[in-house]
Amino acid sequence: MPERAAQMGRRKRIALIAHDHRKADLLDWARYNRGTLARHELYATGSTGALLESELGLSVTRFLSGPLGGDQQVGAALAEGRIDFVIFFWDPLEPQPHDVDVKALLRIAVVYNTPMACNRATADFILSSPLMEEEYERHTVPFVPRSAAGRTTGADG
Ligand code: PGA
Repeated sequence: MPERAAQMGRRKRIALIAHDHRKADLLDWARYNRGTLARHELYATGSTGALLESELGLSVTRFLSGPLGGDQQVGAALAEGRIDFVIFFWDPLEPQPHDVDVKALLRIAVVYNTPMACNRATADFILSSPLMEEEYERHTVPFVPRSAAGRTTGADG
């Protein structure tokens, strides 16, 4: 499997997601950072995006609501290189109907070496990084399942 690289431009494509009990915190964080966020291209799951638009007047491309497939859409966009990083205020104290989607999103972010903030302090560190204003080449590590190590696949195999 060849190593892949995804080029991040100076204008980052940022996905924002917040579970219901974390929405107020995300909104507060986004309000504080509104000036910075407005310079980038924003995506969000349905209800989170609606809040960012109505409360902060930000322009957001909205996916479906998280429990209805929005987290999976973010995961797909991330795998296809359409999103540069994710701010995901997930709720560690409440079971979610879409727990499996949340887990899948966390997993795919690691597979594609995607920056993902899961709490406010990490979001602060990402947004204040000098890399926010620079281009960045994000390498994705070629993971080979242990069971496949030493095997070849495909027509040449
Ligand atoms: P929401 O989805 O923004 O539509 O509430 C977030 C989530 O629960 O994943």
